[in-house]
Formats: sequence, C-alpha cells, structure tokens
Amino acid sequence: MDYLPLFLKIEDRPCLVVGGGKVAARKVSLLNRAHAHITVVAPKTCDEIKTLAEQGTVSWVEREFREADMEDAVLVIAATDDETVNRAVSELANQHRIPVNVVDSPELCSFIMPSIIDRSPVQVAVSTGGASPVLARLLRARLESFIPAAYGRLAHLVDEYRHSVKQRFSNVGQRRYFWENILQGRVAELLFAGHEEKARTALQEAIEDADAHYESSGEVYLVGAGPGDPDLITFRALRLMQQADVVVYDRLVSEPVLDMVRRDAELIYAGKARDRHTLTQESINQLLVRLAKEGKRVLRLKGGDPFIFGRGGEEIETLAEEGIPFQVVPGITAASGCATYAGIPLTHRAYAQSCIFVTGHLKDGSVDLDWEMLAKPSQTIVFYMGLHSIPVIGHELVAHGLPAETPVALVQQGTTRKQRIYIETLESLADLPQREQLQPPTIIIVGEVVSLQEKLGWFGMNNRDQETV
Ligand code: SAH
Repeated sequence: MDYLPLFLKIEDRPCLVVGGGKVAARKVSLLNRAHAHITVVAPKTCDEIKTLAEQGTVSWVEREFREADMEDAVLVIAATDDETVNRAVSELANQHRIPVNVVDSPELCSFIMPSIIDRSPVQVAVSTGGASPVLARLLRARLESFIPAAYGRLAHLVDEYRHSVKQRFSNVGQRRYFWENILQGRVAELLFAGHEEKARTALQEAIEDADAHYESSGEVYLVGAGPGDPDLITFRALRLMQQADVVVYDRLVSEPVLDMVRRDAELIYAGKARDRHTLTQESINQLLVRLAKEGKRVLRLKGGDPFIFGRGGEEIETLAEEGIPFQVVPGITAASGCATYAGIPLTHRAYAQSCIFVTGHLKDGSVDLDWEMLAKPSQTIVFYMGLHSIPVIGHELVAHGLPAETPVALVQQGTTRKQRIYIETLESLADLPQREQLQPPTIIIVGEVVSLQEKLGWFGMNNRDQETV
C-alpha cells in the first residue's frame, strides 16, 4: 500500500490554497463542502473565487505566496501554473509537516486527492495512487451506478437507531444480521421509494419485534427493461434486478438484459406473443400476488416502459387491491429508443410540434383509432403493435388528409444489433408486407421528421435497409 486512505475532518480548520485559477477554484469548492476555513493566496483569481471571497466564504489574500501564509494551516493545496511556486509550497509544507497536495504533481504531494462518490454521510473515495486520475474517474462512474442516491438518507436513518439496536441486541452477530436485513430489505426500499416515515415505522417495528418475520412480506418491482440495448436500463432497474428472488419477464425483454439479473434468481417466462398469450393477463396478475405473498422479492420485468402499452397499470392495480407493496421503475419506451437509434427526432422545430403514441393493434380486423385527430400536419405519430395494420395505417391517414408522400419509418428490433430500418411513404406502405419479411417487434413512425433519418442516422454500420453486424 503506497498511501494510507483516510477521511480528514477539516470543519472550521484553516486550510490554505495557493493559486487562484479554475483548478484552484475546484479545490476550494471541495474544501468548502467539507466546511473548512479557507484562505486563498493569489495575486489574481477567477470569478468563482472572487464571488466566494465577496460572500465571505473564503478569505482572499491578494498577493504572491509567502511562507508565513501557511503558519496555522492544517492542509495546504498548491494549484498555481508556476512550477517553481508549487515546488516551494510543497517544500515549505513538508518542513512544517503540514500535509500538502500539488495539483497534477504526485511527486510533490504528501497526500493525494481521490475521486469521490458523495452520498454524505456515506462517502466512497477511489484512488490509483496518482497513476491515472482518468482510471479513477472511470471507476468512480461505475460505482456511482451501484450506489443509490438515497444512501445518505439511509445512513442517517441507521445512525438515528444505532443506539436502540445496540440495546436490543447485545450480541454482535445478531446485530450484524439485523442490519444486513434492514439495509437490503424493505426498510431500505421504502426509503429509496421516497417513503421516509414508513421506512422509519418499519424499522421501529423491526426493532421491537425482531423475532417476527418482518422481512418475510414480499414485494413487487415493476421494472421497465427498455427497448433492447442493455445499456439503456436505469441504475434503479439494475439494482432491483440484482436483488430479486424471482423474475417474471415478457417476450420483449432482450437476452442481454435478462443476463443482468441475479444469477440464482428464478426466471418465469410470462410470454405474450400476439394471439399466443402464454399466460393470460389475469393469471400473470395472480402469479405476482402469489409470489409476493410467499415472501419473495418479485421483479416484473417488461420491455420498454411498463406504463406505455405495457399493462403495467393493470398488474399493480391487483397488487394495490391485495395490499402488496410495489414500486415502479420507468424504462425507455420503444418510441423513444427506436427513434433515437434510428436518427429520427420525434419533435423538431421545423417539422413537428407534437408527437403522439398510439397502438395499431387490430381488434376484429380493424384499427379503432381517431384518424382525424392523427392526420394533422406538423405531428409525429408512433404506432406500437402496428405490424399487422400497416396497409390500414397508410390508407386511413391518406384518406383523412395526410399527403400520400408523407415519409414513414419502420424500425425493427430497434436499439439492438439487429436493428433494421425501412423508409417508406404512406402510399408505399400498402404492399410493404408483400415486399419485405417484417418481423416483430417493429415500430412505425409517421411524419416529416422521418426525412431527417438519412442525415442523422448514427447507430450501426449502415442505417438504411441494412442489418447491422
Ligand atoms: N411497453 C413497451 C411497449 C409494449 S407494446 C414500451 O414502452 O416500449 C409492444 C410493441 O412495442 C411492439 O409491437 C413494437 O411496436 C414496440 N417495440 C418494443 N420494442 C421494440 C423494439 N426494440 N423495436 C421496435 N419496436 C419495439
């Protein structure tokens, strides 16, 4: 170990920053977050430091650095662009045995600054020993995704009850077991879902009634898995995917996304191909209820966003009626994912001021839509589940007034490596199913914005009529 990691308390203690540029300002801001008493010595400073000096947050000594400046300092940072000054600051600080950091010169530092993930009071610091600040930043970004923003609040809650828990369990092992359950279970989830008071009550109950199986009440996470590309799932989705006991997933959830769920989670396929419902909606609703009542953490994983043509509402209605706790995590819906990966902005000042999502699902062979409302100029229409209605869509929109040459994009398996884009017009849609072997899932985008696809397509090798590899 080349360095000893530690967290230094500098609240109200004198810290010296030599230099007044942007880099110095970043260090000042960090020291300020830790409530230090900051002095900046520099003949000139950038606006940020000037403002802080005017507000009285830092004291600015407007001249060159002198040895006497570091007299009381508990910490010194040199951030000038003059190497001689930086070196002098470092040498003097070492003589005075004051910890010193010289920005970008590890050899002149007696301490180095880590990359920080701040969920105060929870903090994670990453260092590569000065070898590669970029690597430290990349690592930090990865860790950021695993540490929920609300961890700070969770730590405060734990702190509040630490004493009572210590009294309740004299045995260290029992205490650890108790906290492990709390921090990974219902109390933590309540807090992350924004129910601070309920989390507190649940924690109090758990302390009072530690022998009861308070953790055995299951819950359901209704989670949007996005349109296919696993990089498009949210941090929250990933976290829940990795703690669920059982996963009930749809046909639209892509393999690479499924690969990210906890290895030992039980996987249940709920299907739903058109006309071949593997499980009826009612039996899916009941399945979720049953699994949760068995005490399991159930992840209901759906393609795209669960509240957009996903029947997510129906599923949680049943849960709500049964009093089963749940949370819902939004996902990137197919319209947004596919349009973006195809290079089609759904709105654009020159082409479309509104955008509308509809289902093209056939009912008794016809599409039950308000065509008049859809066939408006300067509007983008996105049809979900429209594969079997393609000729109807083209015909109705023209019949209700849209020009026959209005461009249409069909994006098949959007955002995945198999994404394929077909560019048509409303007129040419009629015989498209005979010309091309279209496969689900495909989304249909109608409107002038589609004309931008040729210029703005970016994903895959060749964005037009080509399968990307
Ligand atoms: N809840 C989902 C939509 C479910 S309806 C969401 O928010 O995206 C299913 C329809 O979504 C499909 O018929 C298809 O029109 C569209 N769809 C979903 N994923 C898609 C993808 N990767 N590429 C193209 N269309 C997709």
